[in-house]
Amino acid sequence: MDVLRRAGVDGYWWDNNTGSKGIADLISFASLTKQKNSKLCKDGECLDDIFLTQLDEKLAGITKNTVIVLHQIGSHGPAYYLRYPEEFRRFKPDCRTAQLSDCSRDEIVNAYDNTILYTDHNLSEVIKLLKKHQDTVDGAMIYMSDHGESLGENGLFLHGAPYMFAPAEQTHVPFIAWFSDQYAQLTGLDRSCLQTYADAPTSHDNLFHTVLGMMDVVTKVYNPNLDVFASCRSKAIANPIRPQS
Ligand SMILES: [Zn+2]
Repeated sequence: MDVLRRAGVDGYWWDNNTGSKGIADLISFASLTKQKNSKLCKDGECLDDIFLTQLDEKLAGITKNTVIVLHQIGSHGPAYYLRYPEEFRRFKPDCRTAQLSDCSRDEIVNAYDNTILYTDHNLSEVIKLLKKHQDTVDGAMIYMSDHGESLGENGLFLHGAPYMFAPAEQTHVPFIAWFSDQYAQLTGLDRSCLQTYADAPTSHDNLFHTVLGMMDVVTKVYNPNLDVFASCRSKAIANPIRPQS
């Protein structure tokens, strides 16, 4: 976020989790949790759709290069059942307590699967908003989870295992990207080329460079070999963003 900021990109960090851990100290930060009058919030926590109204309004007013971070609560446990509303209670019976030992493994998995369904919905709503504002915003979305989750495999739950010992359930994470037609055209991004890389191994190490590449920031800290979209970008942008020193 700091490199983007130095390049003159407007940065926003909207938080529906436990803060930015210092990452958003130099940019605009807003916590969306604990909103009292929203029907999306209850007991001091909010569903991730809490971002949408604010995102709609922000997109309507964007006039310059902007990156908005939506720090979701996502599938964070152990209170999986609080992460989705009644209409997303599709997998049942679902564990209705944070006391996982009071639930069967199937109930825990069902509750977790409902959180995934809701995140899927939430991301699709973000994409819908980017489409809604496509006349004024050449939008793109990148989504990456911070970690996976153990749901009882080998007797493990949640995600706290040290990286060296952590099972694949905790370290294998989803990584999703969406690009509008206008964004793909502007940046010379070949989306069918990207499809051929869909199963290529990537990691959190790629995120920094991939985001800088997405925003076409020219800086020596950018490594194109770690930008997972670089090989599908066919042309340089006429006016790349250069950070001021
Ligand atoms: Zn987390």
